[in-house]
Amino acid sequence: MPHIVVIGFGPVAARLVDGLLPAVRSGQLGVTVVGDELHPAYNRVLVADLGVGRTTVDAITLAATAELEAAGVVLDLGRCVRRVDRARRLVHLSDGRAVHYDKLVFATGSRPVVPKLHGLNPDPNVPLGLPAGVTTLRDLKDAATLHRAVLGGRRVVVLGGGILGVEAALAAAEEGARVTVVHHGAHTLGRSIDADAGQVLAGALQARGIAVAAHARSTAVVLDAAPAGDVPPEASFTALKLDGGGTVPGDLLVLSCGVRPRTEVAAGSGLRTARGILVDHSLQAHHDPQVFAIGDCAEVRCLDAGCRECAGSAGPQGLIGPGWRQAEWLAGFLVRPGEPAPPLAAEQAPVMLLKARGVDVAAAGNVAAGPFDPLPLDNPAGGPGAVAGAPAPLRVSVWADPEHGKYVKMATRDGVLEGFVSVGMPRAAAELVLLFERGAELPADRSALLGLDSAGLPAPNDPSRTVCRCAGVDQRTIAAAVAEGCGTVAEVSARTRAGTGCGGCHGEVRALIEQHFQGAPTPA
Ligand SMILES: Cc1cc2nc3c(=O)[nH]c(=O)nc-3n(C[C@H](O)[C@H](O)[C@H](O)COP(=O)(O)OP(=O)(O)OC[C@H]3O[C@@H](n4cnc5c(N)ncnc54)[C@H](O)[C@@H]3O)c2cc1C
Repeated sequence: MPHIVVIGFGPVAARLVDGLLPAVRSGQLGVTVVGDELHPAYNRVLVADLGVGRTTVDAITLAATAELEAAGVVLDLGRCVRRVDRARRLVHLSDGRAVHYDKLVFATGSRPVVPKLHGLNPDPNVPLGLPAGVTTLRDLKDAATLHRAVLGGRRVVVLGGGILGVEAALAAAEEGARVTVVHHGAHTLGRSIDADAGQVLAGALQARGIAVAAHARSTAVVLDAAPAGDVPPEASFTALKLDGGGTVPGDLLVLSCGVRPRTEVAAGSGLRTARGILVDHSLQAHHDPQVFAIGDCAEVRCLDAGCRECAGSAGPQGLIGPGWRQAEWLAGFLVRPGEPAPPLAAEQAPVMLLKARGVDVAAAGNVAAGPFDPLPLDNPAGGPGAVAGAPAPLRVSVWADPEHGKYVKMATRDGVLEGFVSVGMPRAAAELVLLFERGAELPADRSALLGLDSAGLPAPNDPSRTVCRCAGVDQRTIAAAVAEGCGTVAEVSARTRAGTGCGGCHGEVRALIEQHFQGAPTPA
């Protein structure tokens, strides 16, 4: 019986194991999972929600250990894979044991980046141990640390103005913490949105009581040891020091400075890595067909230098949806060895959707251009005078209403969306996401899109549009589940997996259920 060893037990490994389970039950495969977290796989996307008390560990747990073990899966949790000996096909564990594999799957995910600040991990050769009052936001322990601060209404300093930092700040502030976001850009979400959208978002953050320190380069954490009787006091975070001498005081520092794929074990075993572990379109590691990688740690870049799909590879997307699709595909591939497998569909360009109550931000593609930027010299007007073969110029439309927290920018070429930002306009955003993903032409009158958010206009109703982006579930599938009797979001999720990732589509799923029960015509 071929034996598959999976390294890591995050949400992507959990989906793979789900797919392998029937083959394990029938004795066709043996599966061992080694995960260095003690808790079985959970939905990491909801770690910030857990940290502010909006969900529970039980609710986000993705794997039932008793069921898996009863089926024959060996779970080795709380143990780390230190080394892989590919010549002998052995995985060496932190407790000294070695496990043999026929096929090996890396699902090691990524780890948060810890910035080089004085007082924090100053020696890169020493294992990371963060001081008290400093946390990342990646696992259950981090969530528990944040939760204590939120419950106590403490001062939380979020270092990093990317999507995870902004989401954590908004959630923590709403649940009672006093929050400051410190980041070095001109505005938050600087990688995804333009400066004007950033200003509108800044207004939304301010309205929610969140202080933002922009253009701020932090240099050190200030630790202080409060007297604690006879016990030697543990130094704890009291402030973040900024370049220029300023400080931002706080009780908890949340580091939200990006993530890095965990490639060290793969690299140590001689596998090729770049940003992630390099795999081809079958998720097979370069030059070793017995080894695979999926999820946050995997970088799909094949060996064909001319491959157009791989040409612009920017490394792993760090999103759950692509990882889940890889896991499902790989389960099918491993269960039916030798059978031709349909190719794994290439991932679309990512769309950024902020998960926050009452602050709607969506963006995709290139949004740097402005409406009055000079047109390219080789195609000044997109018409006569254009140099043969010159691309059509990028046209940019903008609408802004900062007083009411609304902003939309659409960048099109030949009428087709190349990038957009939407703040405070959820229905326009939904339509723009749809048009962006389909490469469809925008209405010539762009203001038609703005009208979607006026009261009374329905959400987009297109059976083939993707409602749940994490699990890749379209409106038709959800409508069918509702027509077959699913009457709650939980029931629809259990039937279709819609809503099992970030949960951002719950409102839309609820709307489809309501639409059905109000007798409105449901999509075919
Ligand atoms: C706060 C937060 C919010 C997020 N929000 C979103 C979102 O809205 N949408 C979205 O798409 N994505 C989001 N993400 C990203 C998403 O969580 C990841 O894409 C997803 O967790 C990747 O799953 P994975 O299983 O590949 O890796 P991971 O979840 O990182 O799991 C990997 C597991 O492998 C273990 N491991 C690593 N090395 C070893 C080893 N050598 N031995 C044993 N075990 C090992 C790790 O400890 C971990 O348990 C968010 C992440 C966070 C933290």
